[in-house]
Parts: sequence; C-alpha cells; structure tokens
Amino acid sequence: MSTEEPTIGVRRAPAATKFDPKDLPPAGHVIDGAFRETPTAELLDIVDPASEEVIARVALGTESDVDLAVAAAVKAKEPWARLVPKARSEILHAIADRLADNRDVLVRLESANTGKPISVARDDVDGTIDTFRFMAGAMRATTTMAAGDYAESHLSVILREPLGVVGVVTPWNYPLLMAAWKIAPILAAGNTLVIKPSEQTPLTTLKFAELVADLLPAGVLNVVTGLGPVVGSALAEHADIDMIALTGSVGSGRAVARAAAETLKRVHLELGGKAPVVVFEDADLDLVATSLRAASFYNGGQECGAACRVLVHESVAADLVDRLVAQVRELKVGDPGAGDDIEVGPLVSKAHYDRVLAHLDRASAEGARAAVGGGAFDGTGYFVQPTVLVDIPVDAACTREEIFGPVVTVETFSTEDEAVLRANNVPLGLSASVWTSDARRSHDVAARLDSGTVWVNSHLVLANEVPWGGFKGSGYGRDLSIYALDDYSRTKHVMHYHGR
Ligand code: NAD
Repeated sequence: MSTEEPTIGVRRAPAATKFDPKDLPPAGHVIDGAFRETPTAELLDIVDPASEEVIARVALGTESDVDLAVAAAVKAKEPWARLVPKARSEILHAIADRLADNRDVLVRLESANTGKPISVARDDVDGTIDTFRFMAGAMRATTTMAAGDYAESHLSVILREPLGVVGVVTPWNYPLLMAAWKIAPILAAGNTLVIKPSEQTPLTTLKFAELVADLLPAGVLNVVTGLGPVVGSALAEHADIDMIALTGSVGSGRAVARAAAETLKRVHLELGGKAPVVVFEDADLDLVATSLRAASFYNGGQECGAACRVLVHESVAADLVDRLVAQVRELKVGDPGAGDDIEVGPLVSKAHYDRVLAHLDRASAEGARAAVGGGAFDGTGYFVQPTVLVDIPVDAACTREEIFGPVVTVETFSTEDEAVLRANNVPLGLSASVWTSDARRSHDVAARLDSGTVWVNSHLVLANEVPWGGFKGSGYGRDLSIYALDDYSRTKHVMHYHGR
C-alpha cells in the first residue's frame, strides 16, 4: 500500500540489552510437579521477533504427553479441592509474591519472546500479579444462595464445587497475562489444570511453572507445549477433562467447541474482537485522539479489545483524522530494549507480519487510503508502520475482519441509529467505546451496543474486579472478577428431609 506521509523509523536496541539465555526456564513439559524432557521429542524454534533470532527450543507435545499431564491433574484434584478456601488463598498470595520477586526476569523474557515494549511487558506482569491477588481474596468471599426450606420438610443447601480438571489453551499476544486470567480463578475455585501455551510464546508460562513449583502440590498445574491441532485438540477431546477454556481466534474456538462436543464438557471461549469506536460530534476530539494513540496501538494493536474501527460523525471526521494522524506520527516504534519510551514493537512472527501486510494490500486494492503508515519498515524484525486508513468503501474487509496489528480504520456516519447499526454489524462483539458529552446518548448507545464491554469516553481500561468476555463470535464465558470464579465452579443442590 502506498502512503502519503513519510514514516517514522524503528529505534534499535544496543546489543547489551538483548536477550539473556540465563532467563530461560528448564526444557520440557511440566507434568506432576517436574519438568520432563523426552529426549526423542521434536523441537519447535522460539523466535525473538525484533531480532529474528532463535532464542530457545521447546518440545512439540504429543497426545501421550497430554495423557500423562491429565492423569497427574486427575490424581491431584481431590486433595486440592478439599483444601478450605483460606488454604488455597494463601497459596495464591504466595504465588503473587513469588511473581513480584521475579518481576524483572518475567518482563525480559516476555518482551524477548513477543517483541512487546518493556512498558507493555511490565503492565502484563503487574496485571498477572494483581490477578492472583484478586482471586486469592475473591474466592474467600464467594457464597451461594442461603439454605432454606423450599419444599415441605425439606431443607435445601446449595454447595459450590470445583469442576475437576480444566484444560487451558492460550494465545501469543499476552502469554503470561492470559495464562494468569485462567490459572488464578481455576485454582482458586479448587480445580487442577493442564495448560497449553501458544506454540510461538511458551516461555513465560514455563517460567511461571518453574517459579511456583514449590508452592503448589504436584499435578495441580501441568504445562504441555506444542501445537493447537495436536495438544490443544487432545485437551478439548480428553474424557478426563471437565472443561476446556481457550483464548484465541474464532477458528480455534470453533475447533475446540466441536472437539469438546463428543464428551459434552463445558467450553469457555475468549475469542477475537473488532472494537467499534463511536465518536459523536460533541466528543472531546483531543481526548479521542490521545486515547486512541494508546488504545489502538498498545501491544502493536495485537489486542483483542484494540480500538481499531473508528466510526465518527461526518461533521468532525476530518478534524479527528488530523488529530489522530498527528498522534500516530509521534508513536515511538522500536526494539523492546531501545528505551522505556518505546510504544510499538514488532509483530509477533513472520507469519503474522505477512498476514497484516496482506490486509493492508487488500485494503488498498479495495480503495482505502493510508493517511499515515500503510506498509512495513525496512530492516530486521517484523515491524509494521502504525497506520490510519481512510476513504474506505462501505463493508470493506479491513472494517470487518480482525487485522490484529497497528492499523485503525476510520469511517463516517450521519445519525445515531446508523452509528449503532454499523457498530453492531460485524460477527464479533467483544468490546466497544462511545465518545460523547451527552449523558442520555452515552447510556443509550452503550446499552444498544452488542459488546461484552463498553467504555464511555475511554477505551481499553481493565480491572480485575470487573468481567471481561464477549458476545456473538467473540465467545462466551467470562475472565476476571467473581464471574470467572462462577464459570470455573458448579453448584450442587443437596436436599435434606427433616419431616417427623
Ligand atoms: P490462535 O487461535 O491461533 O491460537 C490460540 C491458541 O489456540 C494457541 O495456543 C493455539 O495453539 C491454539 N489452537 C489453534 N488451533 C487449535 C485447535 N484446533 N484446537 C485447540 N487449540 C488450538 O490465536 P492467536 O493467534 O494465538 O491469538 C490471537 C487471537 O486471540 C485473536 O483472534 C485475538 O482476538 C484472540 N484473543 C482474544 C482475547 C479475549 O480476551 N477475547 C484475548 C487475547 C487474544
């Protein structure tokens, strides 16, 4: 795609800040409390997307690795479930403390494996620690309906129980944080688990398992590395797994739900997003532009809630584009080690870089114009220019499909009803934002948007106390908050006859 504007360059890191192999976890799957290497296992290269260098190799797991890990999780489930909440809570607090003590190594490892800026990796690790702290407290406050007589001479008691063993599959965009969003509530609710991290970014999940190994009984947390269609689908199909929880793309969600159908296990899906950003004519346009600088380009736009699809009232569209382009031109792009002020790093892999560039080519072919950016940066690393697309034909693919890169589309609307209709007119419904100074409109439009989260005059602000999850093609089930604890628990009704 051709661009009208000169592009900003990529700042490179000094060699001294590059990846340190001392940070790596031991090799192997984590099964029954120990790292287990299979000498004959095929290995998968783990690549630093800023340097394009192989920084580690991990095992390509097989179905028999999954069987061993599930057997360990089954063996561990009863004693773990029997612990009173206080005991499990103390372990979760100890995990949070251990992670806090090792914050720097986790930050370095995460940014080396994903290419994400140090500031984003710090947010991820801090968010991870807070998730464990929140779940350690929240689990002790969970309760069920009060006991009572609802049928004559029968006392009903509702118990909350763990599900048993949960299979977890995580994506590459926030490897440690997405693992924590599953592991913390799953353990808090009294389940054991087997987790398969993304084949591209397994390092911090393995490091996590290494760091907390002495805090958890053997078999409570198991990690099997490898490919989705092998290890992930073996988890989804496994007869001894009670729920499969996946964060990833819509296609993987479908595959997992299909595989889970045979055993009728529960399914928990956090899938893609294409967040509309609905900007009315009375919005504070400076606030919109500065907020989108972060909310659209955070983690290089590889973010399921990214503010990627702007719908702006036609009367202020030109003004907003000018302000947004000015912000985007100032974004600092570079290697993670090139300074704490770097805002955008490379994309996670060559395959994803090619995918995002193909989206840009297709947008151009469909008639869209890049007001800034529009292509790749030269040189080493999978760097794509932060891009704002304008003059987009209605229903162009770039406004409907998840690009998952540093690309924002801007379209216009003329009425409130049209804005709502177009905002909802995609198959995904994870998150959205409304920008207006009219209180009636902010409530009404937020209520009409088909998204699991709606921000008003803000975007991409999350907290552990509040739920995160989608509608429609973005999946079902909730991460974070007490709703996640509900999802990883089951209720049982016990009725006692006490008639005379
Ligand atoms: P992906 O679907 O390619 O991979 C996610 C995980 O699923 C990986 O571990 C992969 O190995 C596994 N997988 C792939 N095929 C599978 C199969 N057939 N059976 C079982 N597992 C399988 O997704 P990705 O590219 O790693 O991550 C990006 C996607 O994740 C985007 O669509 C993004 O929106 C989504 N995401 C959603 C949230 C959310 O909270 N809703 C958060 C982060 C990312």
